[in-house]
Amino acid sequence: MKIPLFLSLLASLTIATEVNLLFPSFSKPRGMRGHPLKISFEEEADVVVIGGGPAGSAAAIASARQGVKVILIERFDFLGGAGTSMGVSLFMGQDVVGGLYDEIREKLREKQGLKGNAYDPDVMKVVLYKMCKESGVSLFLNSWALGVVKESKRIKAILIHHPEVGIGLIKGKVFVDATGDADIAVAAGAPYEISPEDKIMPLTLCYILWWRNGWPPLWRNYGAVWRMDPFRVFANQTRIPANPLDPFQLTEAEIEGRKEIKEQLEELLDKGFKVRLISSGPHIGVRESRRIIGDYILKEEDLLEGKTFEDRIALCNYPIDIHYQKKSKDLKEVTGRWGEVPTYSIPYRSLLPKGVDNLLVVGRCISASQEAMASLRIQPTSIAIGTAGGIAGAIASQKGIIPRQVDVKEIQARLRELGQIIDKPKGEDKT
Ligand SMILES: Cc1cc2nc3c(=O)[nH]c(=O)nc-3n(C[C@H](O)[C@H](O)[C@H](O)COP(=O)(O)OP(=O)(O)OC[C@H]3O[C@@H](n4cnc5c(N)ncnc54)[C@H](O)[C@@H]3O)c2cc1C
Repeated sequence: MKIPLFLSLLASLTIATEVNLLFPSFSKPRGMRGHPLKISFEEEADVVVIGGGPAGSAAAIASARQGVKVILIERFDFLGGAGTSMGVSLFMGQDVVGGLYDEIREKLREKQGLKGNAYDPDVMKVVLYKMCKESGVSLFLNSWALGVVKESKRIKAILIHHPEVGIGLIKGKVFVDATGDADIAVAAGAPYEISPEDKIMPLTLCYILWWRNGWPPLWRNYGAVWRMDPFRVFANQTRIPANPLDPFQLTEAEIEGRKEIKEQLEELLDKGFKVRLISSGPHIGVRESRRIIGDYILKEEDLLEGKTFEDRIALCNYPIDIHYQKKSKDLKEVTGRWGEVPTYSIPYRSLLPKGVDNLLVVGRCISASQEAMASLRIQPTSIAIGTAGGIAGAIASQKGIIPRQVDVKEIQARLRELGQIIDKPKGEDKT
C-alpha cells in the first residue's frame, strides 16, 4: 500500500469523470463543499470485490483461483457477512449447490465447526480468511466502500475509507458488488427496486444463549433455533420492522433488537431457568433491501415452473421464504408462500446491472422480484451465485472484455470444473 500519497483526487480526474458517493446527502457537510477529497493510498487489481459476505467471499476466492489479481473490500474486520456479523450461523437449502459451498462445509467440519447445517461463526471467520489467503486474494478489512469513480458507463475505481489511513482509491478492470444492498451498483447509477416499507422483510437481531441441552421453552416469534454443542443455543427470535437503508430506522432497530433480547432473557430467568446471554449478533440481520434491475429479472413464476435457463449459473430449491412484519409464533401468520419450489436455475443475466458495463452483482441483491429473492437469498445459493460472478469477472478481465460479452458456456465449464451443480438430473430439466 502506498501511504500516504495525498493525491488530490479531483485534480487528477478528467472532465468526464464522475465521483458518486454512496450517501450524497451526507457527503457534503457545509464547510467541506468545494474541497477536494484527499486520497491517502491507492491500489489496483484485475477484479475488485466489494463485500465479504457468503457471496463476496466466494466471488473473490473463485476469481483469484482463475489466476487474476483480486482485491476484496469488507467494512468489518472479518468475513462472512450475515453469516458471521449478523449471527446467522445456519445453512439452508444446500442439496443442489456443490462447489465452494461443499469446500467451506468440509473445512468447517475439519475444525469441528459444523454440526448438521449449523456452524460456529468464529470458525467460519477463520475458514473464509484462510481460503482467501490460500487463493491469493488481497484483503482490505475495516474498509468501507464510500463511492465510485466512473467514466461514462465504466467504473474506474472504488473509494474506500479505512479508519487508520483515511480515504483510498482501489482501481480495477472489473468490479463485483457483493454488498447485499447493491451499494456499488446504485452509486454507479444502475436502476434498482426495493419493496414498499410495509412489505420489507423484518430485521432480526440473532443471539446465543448458554443453555444446557434441549431448547428454551419460551419462544415468542416464529424463527429458527439451532445448536452446535450441548451448551449453546443460537436463536433467531427477534423481529423488528424497519427500512435498513434509512440510517435512523436502522439505529432504532438495533436498539429495539437488544431490548427484545433482554426481555426474552428476563422471561426465562423469571421462570427460574439457568440461562445466560453469551452474545448477540454484532449487527442486526437484514433479510432484504435493494435488488438491482439487470438484464433478466428472476420471477416467482420461474421458480414455481422450475425453469432451466440456458445461461444458468446456479440452482436452488429453497422455498419462497417471505417474512411478514407481524410478530407471532404461528408460521402461517408470519411468512408468505412458504411452500415447496422445484429445483430452478438462476440466469447469468440476473447478475448484470443495466447501465453499468464493468460490474457484476452477486448475492441477495441480484436482479429478482421480492418473491424470487426470498428463496435465493440463503447462504448456500449466495455462495453459488458469488462463485459464478467471480469466475465471470476473472474471464472478463483476462480477455479485456466486459462481463456482458463473456461466453456463458465458458463460465459454466469452469463452474463444473469446480464441482458447482448447474445441471438438474435428466428428466427434471424443463426450459
Ligand atoms: C435474520 C436472518 C436469518 C437468516 N437465516 C438464514 C438461514 O438460516 N440460513 C441461510 O442459509 N440463510 C439465512 N439468511 C440469509 C443469508 O444470511 C443472507 O441472505 C446472505 O448472507 C446474503 O449473502 P450476501 O453475501 O449477499 O450478503 P451479506 O451476507 O449481507 O454480506 C454483505 C457483505 O458486504 C459488506 N458490506 C456492505 N456494504 C459495504 C460497503 N459499503 N463497504 C464494504 N463492505 C460492505 C457487509 O459488511 C457484508 O459482509 C438469514 C438472514 C437473516 C438476516
